[in-house]
Amino acid sequence: MSELRLAVIGDPIAHTLSPLIQGKMMERLGAEGDYRAFHVTEEELPSFVEMAKRELSGFNITIPHKSRILPYLDGIDTYAAQCGAVNTVRITDGKLYGFNTDGNGIVAALRLMGASFQGARVSLLGAGGAALSICKKALEMGAKTVTVFCRNPKKAAGMTEDFRVTVLPFAGMSAGNCGEVSDVIIHATPLGMSGGADDFTDFSFLDGTKAAVCDIVYRPAETSLLKECRRRGLACSNGRNMLIYQAICAFEIFSGMNFDRDEMGAYLAKEVRKVLGQGDKA
Ligand code: NAP
Repeated sequence: MSELRLAVIGDPIAHTLSPLIQGKMMERLGAEGDYRAFHVTEEELPSFVEMAKRELSGFNITIPHKSRILPYLDGIDTYAAQCGAVNTVRITDGKLYGFNTDGNGIVAALRLMGASFQGARVSLLGAGGAALSICKKALEMGAKTVTVFCRNPKKAAGMTEDFRVTVLPFAGMSAGNCGEVSDVIIHATPLGMSGGADDFTDFSFLDGTKAAVCDIVYRPAETSLLKECRRRGLACSNGRNMLIYQAICAFEIFSGMNFDRDEMGAYLAKEVRKVLGQGDKA
C-alpha cells in the first residue's frame, strides 16, 4: 500500500481527537504516512480542496464543512447523500468521493451496549447534523418508529418524509411520550457538553423507562444525563464509541484495509480514555 497522506479539516479544529485516533490506528496497523489537522475557514475551503487533490489520499471533515464540501465532490455514497453531509472524503486520481461514517458509528455504539435499531422505538433528542445522520441510519436499520424532540421543527424537515418519524417539541418531552415508550434513547444536542452553558434541568422524561440510552456527547466522559441513567440502572454509554467506530470506518475507506473492528475499537477506547477520562464502563 502506498503512503497515506490524511487530514481532518474544521473551523475550529483544535479540539479534534481525530489525529490521535487515526494516528494510533495507523501505528497499530503498520500503515505508512501521516494524519494532520488543518484549520480551514469557509473562504479557505476551495484552496484546501485544490491542495488535497494534489497531495492527499483523503480527509475527514468536521463542523462546519460537512455540507459545504458537497459541491466539490465527484461522487457521493447513498447514505451520505441522504444525510446531506460528508465526514470522510477519499481521493483517487485527483477525484473526491464522499462518505458519512457517523451512522455506522452509532450502530456500533448501540451494539456494544447490547441494543440495536432493528424493530426499536427510538427517541432522538435534537435535530442537527448528527441527529439527521442517526435518524437516517435508524430508519435504514429497521427502526419501528423515530420520535424527534427538537426546539425548531423546521430543522427536522429532512427526517419527516418517512412515515415512521414524528417530531415533537423538546420542551414537551415527558415519560409518557419518551421514556415509557422507547427502546432506545439517543441524545444528540450539545446539552451537558464541556464548555457549553446549558445542561438538562429535568430528567423526568426517563421515568419508567427501560430504554438503552446513548449520549453522543463524549466530552466530558460522564455527562449529567449519563450519571442520571446510571443512577436509574439503565444501559447507557457516552459518545466515545460512536466517535471511535466512525473513525474506524473512515480509515477502512481511506486505506482499503480490513481488520478486526472490535479489537481495534477496544484498543482505541483505552487510548481515548487517557484523554477523556473513564466515565463509561463499556
Ligand atoms: P448541530 O448541528 O449544531 O445541532 C445541535 C442540535 O441541538 C440542534 O437541533 C439544536 O437545536 C439542539 N440544541 C442546541 N442547544 C439546545 C438546547 N439548549 N436545548 C435543546 N436543544 C438544543 O450539532 P451536531 O453536529 O448535531 O452535534 C450535536 C452534539 O453531538 C454535539 O455535542 C457534538 O459534539 C456531538 N457529536 C458527537 C459525535 C460522536 O461521534 N460521538 C458526532 C457528531 C456530533 P436548535 O437548532 O434549535 O439550535
